[in-house]
Amino acid sequence: MPTYKTRVIIISYMKFKEADKIIRAYSPHLGRISAIAKGARKTKSKFGARLEPFSYCELVLYKGRNLDIVTQIEILEPFLNIKENLKKLAYAYIIADLIIRSGGESDPARIFPFFLFSLKELQKIDESLLKQWLIAFQLKFMILSGYKPILDKCSSCGRKIEKLKKNVFSFKDGGLLCNDCSNKREAPTVLKNETVKMLRNLSEMDIREWNRTIYSEIAQKECQKVLENYIYYYLESKLKTIHFLREIESKYK
Ligand SMILES: [Zn+2]
Repeated sequence: MPTYKTRVIIISYMKFKEADKIIRAYSPHLGRISAIAKGARKTKSKFGARLEPFSYCELVLYKGRNLDIVTQIEILEPFLNIKENLKKLAYAYIIADLIIRSGGESDPARIFPFFLFSLKELQKIDESLLKQWLIAFQLKFMILSGYKPILDKCSSCGRKIEKLKKNVFSFKDGGLLCNDCSNKREAPTVLKNETVKMLRNLSEMDIREWNRTIYSEIAQKECQKVLENYIYYYLESKLKTIHFLREIESKYK
């Protein structure tokens, strides 16, 4: 039977039959894949606990009639620090959710290294940086998917933005509006200067430098809110995992 090898990040699994697991994973060559690991829930399974969400591993699979079957697994990075920290785990799920539900299928060869890098950063950071991590990686994911927010010119008429009376952000147009265009809007979303600065800087910089400047809590809060709405507007997938995160945050305050 034809077998193949691929590196993946495990996203989730569900129990199947008495002792099997069906895993969902993300691969740089294939995008989203599902496969079955037979006997994975037996105590003496050769897979052990390795098929857990966010394990980065190399799988050997063979082509099944419906689902492909996992025959071997080699862990490349277990990301234990994420798995053992419920808050970090919730943040990891948000990025995974975003990738799985949207552009992740179109260009896995570009998305996969981004996803892996986001987990490597998440693994090593202090909890105080979690919010900025989420903002930076959500924003970069939107840019990778072709939805870069327009912040240097008016997103409606295209005129260069000079001095703005107010930073009016239009979801429909995908960015800031000039004074003339914003006057015509009812109930506009107005952003603080620091929020615009944070969005601008993070959009332009190399993702490896996402935590070079730490922004205020107020700017981070507003940035996260505007990004959530932006993602919702363009990807039409309300991120369920965000609600999970809110629950965790309220429990561990
Ligand atoms: Zn305009």
